[in-house]
Amino acid sequence: MSSPPVQDQFLTVLSRDEAVRRFREALDLSPRGIETVPLGQALGRVLSADVASPIDVPPFDRSGVDGFAVRAADLAAASEPVPVTLRLNPETIACGVSPGIALAPGTATPIATGGPIPRGADAVVMIEHTEPVAEGIAVRRAPSPGAFIGFAGSDIARGEVLLRRGTLIGSREIGMLAACGLAEVSAIRRPRVGILSTGDELVAPGQPLRPAAIYDSNGPIVAAAVAENGGDPVAFGAFPDDAALLEAAIRRAFAECDMVVLSGGTSKGAGDLTYRLVADLGAPGIVAHGVALKPGKPLCLAVCDGKPVVVLPGFPTSAMFTFHDIVAPVLRRLSGLPERTEASMPARVPVRVASELGRTEFVMVSLVDTPDGPAAYPTGKGSGAVTSFAQADGFLTVEALADSLPAGATAPVTLFTPHLRVPDLVIVGSHDPGLDAVTGHLAERGVSSRVLAVGSLGGLAAARRGECDLAPIHLMDPKTGLYNEGYLQAGLELVPGWRRMQGIVFRAGDTRFEGRTAEAAVAAALADPACLMVNRNSGAGTRLLIDRLLGGARPEGYWNQPRSHNAVAAGVAQGRADWGIAIAPVASAYGLSFIPVGEEHFDFALVAARRNRPPVAAFLEALADRAVRDALEGLGFRPA
Ligand code: AMP
Ligand code: MG
Repeated sequence: MSSPPVQDQFLTVLSRDEAVRRFREALDLSPRGIETVPLGQALGRVLSADVASPIDVPPFDRSGVDGFAVRAADLAAASEPVPVTLRLNPETIACGVSPGIALAPGTATPIATGGPIPRGADAVVMIEHTEPVAEGIAVRRAPSPGAFIGFAGSDIARGEVLLRRGTLIGSREIGMLAACGLAEVSAIRRPRVGILSTGDELVAPGQPLRPAAIYDSNGPIVAAAVAENGGDPVAFGAFPDDAALLEAAIRRAFAECDMVVLSGGTSKGAGDLTYRLVADLGAPGIVAHGVALKPGKPLCLAVCDGKPVVVLPGFPTSAMFTFHDIVAPVLRRLSGLPERTEASMPARVPVRVASELGRTEFVMVSLVDTPDGPAAYPTGKGSGAVTSFAQADGFLTVEALADSLPAGATAPVTLFTPHLRVPDLVIVGSHDPGLDAVTGHLAERGVSSRVLAVGSLGGLAAARRGECDLAPIHLMDPKTGLYNEGYLQAGLELVPGWRRMQGIVFRAGDTRFEGRTAEAAVAAALADPACLMVNRNSGAGTRLLIDRLLGGARPEGYWNQPRSHNAVAAGVAQGRADWGIAIAPVASAYGLSFIPVGEEHFDFALVAARRNRPPVAAFLEALADRAVRDALEGLGFRPA
């Protein structure tokens, strides 16, 4: 195994376009073969050859209505006031029955919709335009020749090319194939794509999570994305960073599949060996490692003996993005699928988006409707987050030569789905677990909401700009100790939400806290130099409370400042810290003990100009709804 020095690997970071060019140039992009597929399994497959119809559809001339087969010439004089009478032949032509009697002049034969037209007949009259009479039927209309007859081959003619090669088979195509009697089709063979996740920390979903481990999300993500883009995913699972184990798995996948997609282990970490194993699989080997992309810089592209082998970055958003941007187009070519068409729309970006110079940066955004047109909010959890991609409507591109996109700029947003559904209600501000009780209630009533968590102050700014209906806030004025009211500006109204008890969280049995008042507990914590706290980010309502309790002290752990109640509780529960401040429902969810400190008011700043929108009215009703209030109480909140 050749092992380039670890420092070498990003020496030649390529531009995105150059990396794509080298990858494609080394590849044969033609499909990997064809196979016969039964009609029942043909959905989503791509035809490998034109399909010509072996028969006429319909196969015979047939009636399009319930009525009588006639000779048009017999009825040339028929009219509403002067009907013409025809004698009935002694047979009725039902569907699936071949006629036995030829139509003689002056006669008619009863026929059902879909019944074959008898010899001698050249038109059908609808039963509604006839009357039974003693001699047979009286006809009140003069049909033109061919009336209500569907002629053989009028739908599909024998020999006609029905579907072209390269067509993606959907339900409509399946209908046409079935109508011609075709029970199977020749389809492009779906490329088998071997999928491997790498990392000592990975656990398969469904298995218990051990300490310091995370679930393998890239494996399932890539498998689904492969299937979405015409491939046949073969999941090999997650492998520890063990050269021998991993090499064996990669070689097996390489032997069995047309393409291999790995994730993790492409960057500079000591355990990162995936790319080194890939380099040895076949010629020419790695064609790009290090691409000026964000997210996705450590992407590694290789072609080994004609097969694409890709190592995606470990971070899920980076992995998904690079897969869709660079790998999916190649996979689609191999599966014979057409290029993806991407819809794009311009949107205003309300906040400044910083970007690294020299890297093409893709920023996931959520779209909201505003009076000035759509606004695009960065979903902003970074490439480590699975949700950045999943909860976004699309992405913005910041070109390599720009160091930022200024606030208020208008930029094109590439949409993930062409049929964007703008939510009925937009809620931008602080997040709280109680919000789900309200938005869930609305969802059941057909009102969709989008909650963007940008913090209380970010929410107020969005509300002032008219980018949301409501901004959830919990801001205490340190001078008065009062919540929220003092932070409202012109055009905003306060809608009371609920109260949440905040308190000191600690592990049960810790005698520094157990049985004490909040003040005594903090004093005990400050007196013990080994006692470690976990703080909150500045700007958080909870932070003000903590600073008040500490009275200017800066104990160990003060600079550990996560952004959520959950992070505080997880830190204490896992022993990374001994105490912190969080809300009661979160404390109990993590099995922590709790000393109440004070109630925080979680309210809503309502954009007054939007008060009369029906979804806003529905939101206000939901807040007053008995079931919603009960649900909030069940979660440990006190509705206002
Ligand atoms: P790596 O590229 O191996 O250095 O991993 C970068 C980051 O992505 C680390 O935080 C990994 O834990 C995470 N990661 C790697 N593989 C996966 C995976 N299959 N699913 C979820 N996260 C992953
Ligand atoms: Mg790793």
